[in-house]
Amino acid sequence: MHKKNFGNRSGLEVTPVSLGAMRLPEDCVDAVELIRQAIDAGMCYIDTSRGYGESEFKLGRALKDGYREKVMLSSKCSPWNKKVRPDDDGSADSVRRRIEEQMVRLDVDYLDFYQVWSVNNRETWEIATKKGGMVEGILKAMDEGLVGHTGFTTHDTVDNLLGYLDTADWAEVILCTYNFLNRTYEPVIEKAHAKGLGTIVMNPVGGGRLTGESAVIMELAAQLDVASVADLAVRYVLSNPNVDTILCGIQKGADVDATIAAAGQPALSADQRKTVNEFFAAHSRESVSFCTGCKYCMPCPAGINIPGVLGAVYEARFLGLTENAKRAYKRATKDVTPDACTDCGACETKCTQHLSVRHELKYAMDTLA
Ligand code: SF4
Ligand code: SF4
Repeated sequence: MHKKNFGNRSGLEVTPVSLGAMRLPEDCVDAVELIRQAIDAGMCYIDTSRGYGESEFKLGRALKDGYREKVMLSSKCSPWNKKVRPDDDGSADSVRRRIEEQMVRLDVDYLDFYQVWSVNNRETWEIATKKGGMVEGILKAMDEGLVGHTGFTTHDTVDNLLGYLDTADWAEVILCTYNFLNRTYEPVIEKAHAKGLGTIVMNPVGGGRLTGESAVIMELAAQLDVASVADLAVRYVLSNPNVDTILCGIQKGADVDATIAAAGQPALSADQRKTVNEFFAAHSRESVSFCTGCKYCMPCPAGINIPGVLGAVYEARFLGLTENAKRAYKRATKDVTPDACTDCGACETKCTQHLSVRHELKYAMDTLA
């Protein structure tokens, strides 16, 4: 894989596909083998976290025998996501404890990146950036040579993020979700890139949704001469010139090979990207009167998770992601299945979209159960 500029602020370079270490194989030997396979294939940036189970320990084992020197290693923490000690509070002192503890877990004496994990609203931004807060602690660790670079990961609103980027001079990278079904953060990625931050994308294949079969999306892929839904997803994200790298959440060897192969294909042209955007805009127009997940129909007296079931119907009917829809249906009905419906009709009188909820529940049982 060729390397590209990883944002002007860091002065580093990165390959288009990076290693996301959130869901490594359960078995440590398998995980070590897979991590090394990914590094041998060219991935040179690794994202992990204090909250990803045994991930840091597995990486510690994998990065022996010369592998540590081949990668940029990034970890992160936040007390609102994971408190390791009851007094973890987002202060400079508490983040310093986490950095030192995580370096032990990873068995390294230096972290290329240490990031604020999940800035999800203004309150968490303020905890991280206030005087004596997390950012101050990370910058001190950088001064002392324990950490090389910093940044933040986020699920905050676009408006908030565009504002933060005006003042976040300390941040060298940002990590956020982006794929062709969810382009919410496109303006954030654009502004971050223009300001010199390295831009890292999580969920390029929609958390695995876009790795399955979909007759609907394949119709689009075929028009663009792209071989699979997953290839289209990877190439779409990487053809955005403001994206520096995507996290490939590896669970098996094929994940590594398939993502790198897709990244090696030519970038989609501006016209092809426009075709993709128009295709999904048309689909959302078509589906706009379907369930919005607003939950006004809840609670159902029979205990049915109506928005969950209708969300699965949406995936199947409008996106053709049948396998994913079946998994979503299973999750939504693990406690109560739609056949518990007593036909009271209460949901339909409250539904903001005036849906025939009972008919949709029956459709879900017939097609997704
Ligand atoms: S009609 Fe069925 S799904 Fe709707 S509120 Fe009544 S029991 Fe629940
Ligand atoms: S009220 Fe209607 S649109 Fe809202 S979650 Fe329930 S079924 Fe969906």
